[in-house]
Amino acid sequence: MDLEQKAIERIRTASEMSLHHYGKPLVCTYSGGKDSDVMLELFKRSGIPFEVHNSHTTADAPQTVYHIRDTFYKLELQGIKCTIDYHIQPDGSRITMWNLIPRKLMPPTRLVRYCCSELKETGCHNRMIATGIRWDESTKRKSRDSFEVIGKTKKKGIRISDEKMLLTDNNDTRKLFEQCQLKAKTVVNPVIDWKNSDIWEYIESERICTNCLYKMGYDRVGCIGCPVASKARWKEFADFPKYKQMYIHAFDRMIEVRKARGKETTWKNGEEVFFYWMEDENIPGQMTLEDFL
Ligand code: SF4
Repeated sequence: MDLEQKAIERIRTASEMSLHHYGKPLVCTYSGGKDSDVMLELFKRSGIPFEVHNSHTTADAPQTVYHIRDTFYKLELQGIKCTIDYHIQPDGSRITMWNLIPRKLMPPTRLVRYCCSELKETGCHNRMIATGIRWDESTKRKSRDSFEVIGKTKKKGIRISDEKMLLTDNNDTRKLFEQCQLKAKTVVNPVIDWKNSDIWEYIESERICTNCLYKMGYDRVGCIGCPVASKARWKEFADFPKYKQMYIHAFDRMIEVRKARGKETTWKNGEEVFFYWMEDENIPGQMTLEDFL
């Protein structure tokens, strides 16, 4: 069976599980990246009933936001239900990357990606969802069992990694089907075994419209300044300088809140935090990750 048919069969199996266990259609999560666009095409070809969901991170590039809006507009014309979670709280306020940083008292880091759990993995509680997670994003050995439980720590005896795994992690331990106990979701990853080249070949052969950021030299589309992107962030901030300013302002407010709460703070201003954060290493005399906690 070819890759496309295998992925479609997985989607159909997941759809049956979703309708049987949750009584609701499978949800295709959509980030505006190439994997999401491929997954969406596979969903359409599978013939199953489905919904599409996006979590607005507030740190996505404008091109990504426009691509999502455009895609959802076309899907809605076809009668497919699309939702965007803007993280509106009961008091009417919204969670954004910019108010989350002062609230968490530290910048998001590769190890502490609080923003993913609050901005990217929200919604779809008690639903079965599909993500575009792929093993090829990981360089480590792949584990090919079919099920995994996510959201627990090794200390509690269930997890397989020392850090908490997020639904959006492209970890080599990801499985075709997973259960997120924290958020009461079941997750299917239909393109988990697709390589980067498979994704691009499918996009080319099926003429799938993708985010224009790929034509601007990006091979990854996500939040501007995502700590997982490491050194690639320098290009992001060169292309999107407003986002750099927004991070610096958020770090300024973070320092104020830390001082107000009597927390240790060696940073003089948000700009200092920004350059520390970008280098992603500890310069002697500066604060370490543990100091933030
Ligand atoms: S993709 Fe990166 S920056 Fe965006 S929410 Fe997740 S960890 Fe944070």
